[in-house]
Amino acid sequence: MTAEHQKISASTIAAIATGLTPSGVGMIRISGPEAVQISDKVFQPINGVPLLKRRGYTSAYGYICSNGEKIDEGIAAVYRAPFSYTGEDIVEISCHGGVYLMQKTLQAVLNHGAKPAGAGEFTKRAFLNGKISLDQAESVMDLIQANSASAARAALAGKDGALQKEIASIQRELVGIASHLAAWIDFPEEDVEELASSSLEQQLENSIIRLKNLNQGYDTGRLIREGIPTAIVGKPNVGKSTLMNLLSRYERSIVTDVPGTTRDIIEESVQVGGYVLRLADTAGLRETTDQVESIGIAWSRKKMDSSELVLAVFDMSQPLGEEDIELLNNLKGRTAIAILNKNDVASIQNISDYEKRISDKIPFVVAMSAQNGDGLEKLEQMIPNVLGLGRIDPSAAMLANERQRDCVNRSLRPLQDGLDAVQAGITLDAVSVCLEDAISPLMELTGERTSDVVIEQVFERFCVGK
Ligand code: GDP
Repeated sequence: MTAEHQKISASTIAAIATGLTPSGVGMIRISGPEAVQISDKVFQPINGVPLLKRRGYTSAYGYICSNGEKIDEGIAAVYRAPFSYTGEDIVEISCHGGVYLMQKTLQAVLNHGAKPAGAGEFTKRAFLNGKISLDQAESVMDLIQANSASAARAALAGKDGALQKEIASIQRELVGIASHLAAWIDFPEEDVEELASSSLEQQLENSIIRLKNLNQGYDTGRLIREGIPTAIVGKPNVGKSTLMNLLSRYERSIVTDVPGTTRDIIEESVQVGGYVLRLADTAGLRETTDQVESIGIAWSRKKMDSSELVLAVFDMSQPLGEEDIELLNNLKGRTAIAILNKNDVASIQNISDYEKRISDKIPFVVAMSAQNGDGLEKLEQMIPNVLGLGRIDPSAAMLANERQRDCVNRSLRPLQDGLDAVQAGITLDAVSVCLEDAISPLMELTGERTSDVVIEQVFERFCVGK
């Protein structure tokens, strides 16, 4: 953060924090030096004690007034600087969650001198006032947007500072080496111990490994945050649509007995075992001369190519056919689960034949009935294992977006150059420059030193009221 970022804002801002849909409770958040004074003009505590006389972390019951007229009853919670979300004085007035009431309350607050808050302005103030780092601020938005248990856990870990702590620790290590080198270079006559190149090498390698680990976890983290692009494939009539309906728990795609009727690709997100699958139903992998269906088949192959996970469905009530074998061959090298469907009507002979021939090609196999849901639990457990998500600790440090990844990459390059320089026996001045170049992007990642443009970009994607 630069010096000009650090000033506490002079204005008081307000916004509806709970969204503009009718609900039980609505909340208007006011933050800034005048937050309490302004609230006192809008809120009449029932006990007659003005909010100005209240300490932080206390609340009062009372009436919300506009132009001297009571418009609702509610609660005002007072937070005193610096012990609040933004680091400023905050009052949160909770009223009934009608859209008219919320807007009327906000208007009353604005009439008394507060300014409408911009997108993410409360969180931006929290960052500018040093309450949270830039990556923690980004996690706040990720938390709001989280659509599964695993995504919410990962965002909460970010908000709690998991990434910030890891980056700060790597940065400390690099600063330690840099200052040692600087002392040694600048004061050779003093008694500064020369860093043995083997120890320097090891320290640089250690930081490189830690940054690379973060980088490697990025794609996995994205699957957790954004959902797993998943293709359901299989020849017509094996039960793909039925499976999709089972996973989405309501009727979406057309289920029919006529082979080849699911022509349109229907995409939707479903929750499976704490993860989100971004599912695409397909027209099947059958070779066909039918024009319309050919489009669907080409699409389904493309979909398989662009998916992270393939659910390949086979109908166990029928013997394994040529098309099934072709599909199995197509699955080679992909992350796939073979779903042996219709186990409720399959013969013992078919079951053992399928299991033998399929588990040869794909190690992950589930026998199930998409129609009655038998085996679904096993499928749910298998999905994170197939993708290696089961090994990921959602509370560990994780890069959450391209901005953060770019900072890590920009730090890795000079670090690698520095390591090469040490190994080549080049002067330590050169290594010193590399270290400085590596530290700077890390400071940018956490927002310790970053430009206004980057800050604007981060908060642009926030909603008003947060
Ligand atoms: P798709 O062409 O692969 O999408 O297949 P559908 O989902 O349309 O299913 C074809 C037929 O198989 C329908 O009559 C379904 O009711 C039936 N079906 C799907 N799954 C099962 C299952 O697990 N057990 C049984 N007995 N029938 C199923």
